[in-house]
Amino acid sequence: MGTKSTHATAPGEARYPHLFAPLDLGFTRLKNRVIMGSMHSGLEALPDMAPRLAAYFVERVNGGVGMIITGGIAPNKEGGHGAYMMHEADVARHRIVTDAVHNADPDVKICMQILHAGSLAGGADAVAPSPIRPRILPIVPIELDEAGIEKQLADFTRAAVLAQQAGYDGVEVIGSAGYLLATFLVARTNQRTDRWGGDFEGRMRFPVEVVRRIRAAVGPDFILIFRVPAMDMLEGGLSQDEVIRLSQAIESVGATIISTHFSWHEAQVPTIATMVPRAAFTGVTGQLRRHVKIPLITSNRINMPQVAEDVLARGDADLVSLARPMLADPDFVLKAAQSREAEINTCIACNQACLDHGFEGKLASCLVNPRAAHELDLRYIPTTAAKRIAVVGAGPAGLAFACIAAGRGHHVTLFEAGSEIGGQFNLAKRIPGKEEFHETLRYFKTQVARTSVELRLSTRASAPLLAAGDFDEIVIATGVEPRKPQIPGINHPKVVIYSDILLGRRTPGRKVAIMGAGGVGFDTAQFITQRGPSASTDIHLFAREWGIDFKHHPRGGVTGIVPQVDHADREVWLLQRKPGSPGKALGRTTGWAHKLTLQRRGVHMWGGVDYRHVDDQGLHLLVDGEARVLDVDTVIVCAGQEPERTLHDELAQQGIASHLLGGARDAAKLDAKRAINEAAHLAAII
Ligand code: NAP
Ligand code: SF4
Repeated sequence: MGTKSTHATAPGEARYPHLFAPLDLGFTRLKNRVIMGSMHSGLEALPDMAPRLAAYFVERVNGGVGMIITGGIAPNKEGGHGAYMMHEADVARHRIVTDAVHNADPDVKICMQILHAGSLAGGADAVAPSPIRPRILPIVPIELDEAGIEKQLADFTRAAVLAQQAGYDGVEVIGSAGYLLATFLVARTNQRTDRWGGDFEGRMRFPVEVVRRIRAAVGPDFILIFRVPAMDMLEGGLSQDEVIRLSQAIESVGATIISTHFSWHEAQVPTIATMVPRAAFTGVTGQLRRHVKIPLITSNRINMPQVAEDVLARGDADLVSLARPMLADPDFVLKAAQSREAEINTCIACNQACLDHGFEGKLASCLVNPRAAHELDLRYIPTTAAKRIAVVGAGPAGLAFACIAAGRGHHVTLFEAGSEIGGQFNLAKRIPGKEEFHETLRYFKTQVARTSVELRLSTRASAPLLAAGDFDEIVIATGVEPRKPQIPGINHPKVVIYSDILLGRRTPGRKVAIMGAGGVGFDTAQFITQRGPSASTDIHLFAREWGIDFKHHPRGGVTGIVPQVDHADREVWLLQRKPGSPGKALGRTTGWAHKLTLQRRGVHMWGGVDYRHVDDQGLHLLVDGEARVLDVDTVIVCAGQEPERTLHDELAQQGIASHLLGGARDAAKLDAKRAINEAAHLAAII
């Protein structure tokens, strides 16, 4: 819940002097260096878009952000991304949003992003410089002719003018990511021989013309940001020299700010997933900054104030763009200003509730903050009738419930049989590339203390204990038990449950079969094939593993560089009964990278297996009907989960009602997103 914005004497401002320094843009001023980066929430397309977007943004304004960039709005139908388009008729409802932001804090700026998706628009009328199908979509776009180009330029300009009429302080034009402007820039997607193609001068003509015309139409006192593909991660993509030339040209025709963007959607390098080191790409912005005079924005995996401050302090950029961290915690800036960093709900870069939802056509939210983009329908209103509530289980569901309910004023006692809070998070944090879960645990520890939850660790709550406690409500969040498939030999000493491996209670042998290839199977494979430190903690390791040359910036940053992944020092089979290759159910935006990593480490991935039995020889299988024996030393069971609700059933037998949450309620397809979401909804109304 946001409170009023920062004031000059807040103690954290001295700790983060670069972050809290205003930025003078000549005709206007940004109050600090933190931008809420553009990201579709899905609210843009709703009939009641205006009040919902207004509430979403105002919460971030009250949390101290300096400038907001909206999710991308198309300038015309062919560039459309779903229903997000700027019409004359939309000006009034956009005005509701901009007025709400400015009323909340007149010093905060809001810019509308103009996104023409080009060949990624996906419709039959999608347009592009050349009729080249993007790698990730089945549609060949229509090649723009001279009249078509003129129409696109006019539509970009019209969208900017409408944004100005709607009260925006500026626009951001996206010239990256594989959208229309980016496809003009790259030779592979721009094979024109007229003045809009050919050499780089010709290929950058269209993006530069877009900026020139917008500036001419909106006048000098309107923020105009251009997103350059500063390292597009494409084999044969832009060279550093071309990025510099583009940026200088954009500057010369009137851009106010350049925002650096990394990667195209079709690139095969992760740039925002949790396996990417924090602030991994800001050095690229830093190199470009030497060549332009206007301010530069950098982004990607900047998820804590100190990370942002360090980026600014070493001169990599003038501004930092935080998109997902603003979903995770709307009060990020305010908490930094008030030295309350331990209270920041840190974005763990999982993409599960934000970008994955976007690609699935669902409303975005946040795994660690289900209120994100749901500000009007999930409210944590202080209670007027405080209850005594027992919560059993301090995993994600129990923790989220306890902290939100206590934050509303209830008296919450949280029982945990283990000696620490966290539940499944304590397993997740051990997976290489998932170190950010430590931050979530730190957040919950702080929240438990701050909201005065009475935490009873190493206490196994029993039915008699709860009955004697005179609680008004009992919430059972006892989580899940790993499923143990009932096949002959399942109790053989070779067989081990994944949690024993992840917690270090057992060490797998040199040959390992993993039974089950869901999220946990993949995580376990990652864990047991990791050699040395995780690439997510070291930018050099990351660059080596994904074939990036940050220093010399060959075309796209990746051209001609072979990723160097160490083969695992054990042989691993990742198995599932379903036919086909494992990994299809992993997150849309991150699953491919997890899978590629394991493939590069030499992990065998088999679908369509039928487990027969385990014995001294190993794991006996039928693979497509053919008998096989994997002579493995260890069989790790990652075969899903069953609900653990013994306590709930015992209470029920005694006629004591309780609420079931998370995995204890339903273990199928359980993840932290659902657990926290369920907990938040119950805690909001109890
Ligand atoms: P899961 O995703 O349901 O996968 C369970 C796996 O076990 C499947 O491969 C399934 O495939 C197999 N299986 C199910 N019943 C079996 C049986 N009786 N015998 C043998 N194999 C069986 O469960 P999970 O991997 O434990 O993950 C739990 C939840 O956490 C999931 O929702 C998952 O998405 C989430 N999670 C997510 C991540 C992430 O990175 N986003 C990481 C970890 C966990 P077959 O039935 O085809 O054999
Ligand atoms: Fe960050 Fe995950 Fe929340 Fe997205 S869902 S904002 S990646 S924590």
